[in-house]
Amino acid sequence: MSISSNLIQLNQSIPGNVTLVAVSKTHPVQAISEAYQCGQRVFGENRVQELDEKHAQLPADISWHLIGHLQKNKVKYIAPYVSMIHSVDDLELLKVIQKEAQKNDRIIDCLIQIHIADEESKFGFSHIEADAFFGSINDADYPNVCIRGLMGMATFTENQQQVEAEFEGLKTFFDNIQSRRNSDSFNVCSMGMSGDYQLAIEAGSNMIRVGSAIFGSR
Ligand SMILES: *Cc1c(COP(=O)(O)O)cnc(C)c1O
Repeated sequence: MSISSNLIQLNQSIPGNVTLVAVSKTHPVQAISEAYQCGQRVFGENRVQELDEKHAQLPADISWHLIGHLQKNKVKYIAPYVSMIHSVDDLELLKVIQKEAQKNDRIIDCLIQIHIADEESKFGFSHIEADAFFGSINDADYPNVCIRGLMGMATFTENQQQVEAEFEGLKTFFDNIQSRRNSDSFNVCSMGMSGDYQLAIEAGSNMIRVGSAIFGSR
């Protein structure tokens, strides 16, 4: 299957309110160009250096999303152009994003990453930590950051019921925070990857991050 036919099929199978982030990590610039020719404009990368190199070579109207763990000392490289950072998992990181966005006179959209998987290795706040985080931040202190919603990754397992339950748990938590924040811009629930995006959409995801189902295996 080609990148373009994968993209066309995928777009036909997802509802119109769901944003597709095409995860192009490890794939070459030509692969991204092919997806771009098909109309795809939102791409996700998880490494700052790779993102920087691709950003420099590709059209300026691409929205670049940083989807992986982000080190504070690397925010400055992407702050001039990144559209959304999916992986805010620490207050100090949010402060650095604020500072670097301000230097660039920009507002950077961010998602707060929530740990929903039954695995040690994945980053993100627990529900309790996220509750405390949302209780403590004052949005007026972050004029150059827009907290758009939450992001989570389910456990890598064949057990569909477990994955479903993790997505439903995140959606319930998202609804809860959304009603507390009472802000129109808090409206993104990013969950679902190649193997589980259908379950995620059923659970209420409106942003999926799909790599291998578009570009092939890494
Ligand atoms: C790599 C990655 C994806 C995409 O994974 P696929 O299984 O290739 O679709 C989605 N989200 C994050 C955070 C990733 O690192």
